[in-house]
Amino acid sequence: MLPGIMMHRPLRVSDILDFAAEIHPTGEVVSVMLDGSVHRISYQALHRRVARLAHALREMGVGPGDRVATLAWNTHRHFELYYAISGLGAVCHTINPRLSAEQFTYIVNHAGDRALFFDVTFAAQLAALRGSFPDEIEYVALCESGAVPEEMPDARAYDDLLEGQPDSITLPDLDENDACALCYTSGTTGNPKGVLYSNRSMVLHALMMANAEQNIFREGRRILPVVPLFHANAWGLPYTAPLAGASLVMPGMTLDGPSIFRLADREEVYSAFGVPTVWMSLLDEMDRQGRKPKGLGEVVTGGSAAPRRLVERFMVDYGVEVIHGWGMTETSPIGTLSCLPVHLRGRPVEERIDRTLLQGRRAFGFEMKIVDEDGNDLPWDGVSVGEYLVRGNGVVRGYYNNEAATKAAITPDGWFRTGDMASITPEGEMKIADRSKDLIKSGGEWISSIDVENMAMSHPAVANCAVIAVPHPKWVERPLLVVQRTPGTEAGAADLRAHVAANLAKWQVPDDVVFVDELPMTATGKVSKRTLRERYKDHPMDGAPG
Ligand code: AMP
Repeated sequence: MLPGIMMHRPLRVSDILDFAAEIHPTGEVVSVMLDGSVHRISYQALHRRVARLAHALREMGVGPGDRVATLAWNTHRHFELYYAISGLGAVCHTINPRLSAEQFTYIVNHAGDRALFFDVTFAAQLAALRGSFPDEIEYVALCESGAVPEEMPDARAYDDLLEGQPDSITLPDLDENDACALCYTSGTTGNPKGVLYSNRSMVLHALMMANAEQNIFREGRRILPVVPLFHANAWGLPYTAPLAGASLVMPGMTLDGPSIFRLADREEVYSAFGVPTVWMSLLDEMDRQGRKPKGLGEVVTGGSAAPRRLVERFMVDYGVEVIHGWGMTETSPIGTLSCLPVHLRGRPVEERIDRTLLQGRRAFGFEMKIVDEDGNDLPWDGVSVGEYLVRGNGVVRGYYNNEAATKAAITPDGWFRTGDMASITPEGEMKIADRSKDLIKSGGEWISSIDVENMAMSHPAVANCAVIAVPHPKWVERPLLVVQRTPGTEAGAADLRAHVAANLAKWQVPDDVVFVDELPMTATGKVSKRTLRERYKDHPMDGAPG
């Protein structure tokens, strides 16, 4: 062995904004604020605000390793928190406001957050929950001086914190393996699991993503993350965009089709990132207006499988390219993308659509394989379906303070079990065949069928039940509760939905309940959800998540 003779400089998240401020001075972050006003700020000016915020955090006593929570929409303030917190060596813990009260409480306590920054729209939700959080948490409302909501009277105003702080800061010398961000995944049953990203993993992921989507991540491009900053770091966009010199157009809290259309049109966004549900409503607005938003060139869709109709409408009706991506909170999140290799880009649109429906080829630094039940590698023949295993610099090697979950997720030879089933073509295009579990994805969020079943089963009229996903035109999927009644009981659909609603988040409540004499069972004595899904795939669903 002959070691190379080169310097080793740590890869740190703060270097990204330093770089953007210096090299991409015209890059900016445009935000739709909660009152509808539009805020614009350059990366240079953001760099100064981040320094001021870091000083303020330091005064609050935040130091290396501390977890600082955010409960916030996509705006420049949330972006500032990302960089100021991790610049200090602390950990930016983004909380998904759509979690149930129980999950929310669990993760704040599990993470041991010492401060929580929140958008004022979440004040009532927070006021109702804070009694179950550690007492020493400091609360900061993301608002101007004097605008702290009355539900959280002891919170400080964000703008007051920044007032009078210096514009530059000397950040601590961090190790690249120090944690910078924490995001809990609620993708399975049981308690949410913490994914603790390092400075190194985040920087490498940003480089990897910029390399994988070279036509999007360029100086001067304008990018719209509809995907929230609390969902897998908005797919890494707050890091990749400034690194590449692209501007970010942050939509704030209004994510409906007409609002996204107006924003993308006015700001001449080139590329937007989000889940299929969002694209369906944007497409409806495009149909209403008979045009695409000015300048829109590529849409990136992920989080759940892209329906064919979605890809067709963008590509055929409006000439907008669709890139279909696969990823997980555990993979930073980008793993694969459907970007076509150059020799296929001129192919007929039908062929390009077929290929876009696959979840695509791997990004550099990300490796994948499919295995059978005994862990043997399966061929990349486009037909064999197996458990999808991945590894790479942006992939978790364990969960935060959760040995049992870590053990279950990592194979003895160091691969991460995604929980998905996939096939891979000889060209290396991965296709998700099914989720190995029976989770339901509604409006970009997971619903655990087992959690809902457990709740339903606590009603005396329910002898047995199953919750399955039914396709839904707006939310992609919605849960349907299938119940075998306890003999002699009478409870109806409304009673059972109300019972479930009392204990779960509104959007997790099944849209409908059907009653059966007997649930279909598999050979091993479990309810056969596959049979149920097939039987009810056309069941009308009209509920909507909150
Ligand atoms: P999350 O950690 O919430 O982002 O969820 C990750 C899971 O979402 C993956 O394990 C997949 O099951 C699913 N997923 C993400 N992207 C896709 C996609 N393009 N097609 C199908 N499923 C997807």
